[in-house]
Amino acid sequence: MNKRICGRGLLLCGIALGMALQLGGCKVEVLPFHDKVFPSGEQSSGVRASEIRPPATPTPTPEPTPTPLPVQPVLDEAGRMAAQYDYDGALQYLKGQTEYQDSQEIQTAVTKYQNMKDVCQEYPLEQITHIFFHTLVCDNAKAFDGDSDEGGYNQVMTTIPEFNRILNILYQKGYVLVSPHDMMSVDGNGVMHREKIMLPPGKIPFVLSQDDVSYYHYMDGDGFASRLVVTDTGEVKCEYIEDDGTVSVGNYDLVPIVDEFVKLHPDFSYHGRKGILAMTGYNGVLGYRTDIAYKTGENLQENQREFLDSHPDFDFDAEVAQAARVADAMKKNGWEFASHTWGHRNAATSSAEELQADNEKWEAYVAPVLGKTDMIVFAFGADIGGWEPYSMDNPKFAYFKSRGYHYYMNVDSSQYWVQAQEGGLFLRQGRRNLDGYRMYYNPELLEDLFDVSEVWDSDRPTPVPPM
Ligand SMILES: [Zn+2]
Repeated sequence: MNKRICGRGLLLCGIALGMALQLGGCKVEVLPFHDKVFPSGEQSSGVRASEIRPPATPTPTPEPTPTPLPVQPVLDEAGRMAAQYDYDGALQYLKGQTEYQDSQEIQTAVTKYQNMKDVCQEYPLEQITHIFFHTLVCDNAKAFDGDSDEGGYNQVMTTIPEFNRILNILYQKGYVLVSPHDMMSVDGNGVMHREKIMLPPGKIPFVLSQDDVSYYHYMDGDGFASRLVVTDTGEVKCEYIEDDGTVSVGNYDLVPIVDEFVKLHPDFSYHGRKGILAMTGYNGVLGYRTDIAYKTGENLQENQREFLDSHPDFDFDAEVAQAARVADAMKKNGWEFASHTWGHRNAATSSAEELQADNEKWEAYVAPVLGKTDMIVFAFGADIGGWEPYSMDNPKFAYFKSRGYHYYMNVDSSQYWVQAQEGGLFLRQGRRNLDGYRMYYNPELLEDLFDVSEVWDSDRPTPVPPM
C-alpha cells in the first residue's frame, strides 16, 4: 500500500491514519496557505464588514478593560521550566524578578514550584534504560518491496507508525527523556562525577538515540527521508523526494516527530533534552554530502560517483554550511551528537591504530559540521572492551579518552546496563534496539517498555529474516 499521496499545496503522508496521523508522524500539512482561503464566490455569501454596525444603544458605563498582568510572561517562562522538571531554574528565575516582593502571583508560583521540587526523588543511575533506532521507514511499500535491501530494513529499521505508538506508550507510562550528560558530568581533569536526576514519583528517565542519520546513498528510493532541513522558524523537518521528483517537507523521521511530540507534551523531556544522533561521516551527515571525498573526488565509492555525476551543480562549501545550520538548530532544540566512527568501523575487531586513523577523519570532516562531541556510540554495538570497566591499559580506551571521549555506548539487550563510577574515567551504557528483529524474535525482552502486539506494523513481511 502506498502511504504517500501528494498534491499541489497539500501533502498527505500516512493516509493509513492510525497513530501516525494523530502524532504528526506523517501529517497533513497545508502549504503554503495559512489563514482563510476562500474559493471564489464564498466571500459574497458571508457578512460583509461594512454591514456590521455597532449596537444602537451604547452600554452606559463600560467596565474598565482589565489590564494584562505584567507578571504573566514571567509566570509563563517559569511554567515552561517547571513543566520540564527544572524547578531550580524556575525558582531562581522567579525570585530574581524585581516584582517578586510585591507580587502575590509570583510568590504563589514560588510556593507551588517549591512544593513540586520537594516531592522529587533521585532516580538510580544504574536503572536508566537507553533505547535506539535507525532511520525510520516513511513509506512501507517502498522499503518492503522485495528488493535486496528489504531484509535489512525489516531487521534493523522501525516504521513511523511503530515509532509513534512506542512514543505514546512510553509517555503514558511516565518515561522522560534525559541525556547521559544528566547522569554524569566530567571535570577539567577528565574525571567523572555522578549527577542527580530528580523527578516526581512515577517518572522514569530514559535515553533515546538514533544511529546513522546520514541518509546513505544506498537508501535512495527506498521510502526514507532524504535530508533534514531548518524552517524559517528554526524548526527541523525532513525532506522527502516523491516519485515525480518533487520535494515534500514534513515529519518523515525521528527528529521532527520527537520535536513535535515534546512541543505537545513538554513533560516528556527533562530540562529540554531530546536525544543523541550517532553519526558516521563517509556519506556525509544529515543527508548532506559533506565528506571531503565529495570535494576532492578521490576514493569515491560507486554511489558517490553517481551522486556527483547526477548533481553537476553540487557546491561542497554550501553543502557544509547548510548541514552546519541544521546541526546548530538541532542542538538549540535539545539534540546532541555522538561519534559512530567515521567509517562505521567495528571497534572490537579494529586495531587501536585503525580506530585512531578513523577518528582523525571524524574530527577533520564531521566535527566541523556537527561540533565536537564527548560521546561515542559503537557501530555494530562492538565495544572496545568486555564487561569489566575500561582501564588505561586498554590502548583503544586510552586513545579515545585522550581525544575527549568520556561517554561510551554499546548494544545490550538487558533492561539497563550502566557503569557510572564516581571518580572514574567514563560513563558506559548499553543500548536496546527497538527494531523489527528484536520485536519479532524477542518481544519478552521489551515487556518493561511495551507490548509488541500494540506496536507491530502489519506491513512488515514475516518472518523477519534471521541474523
Ligand atoms: Zn550504525
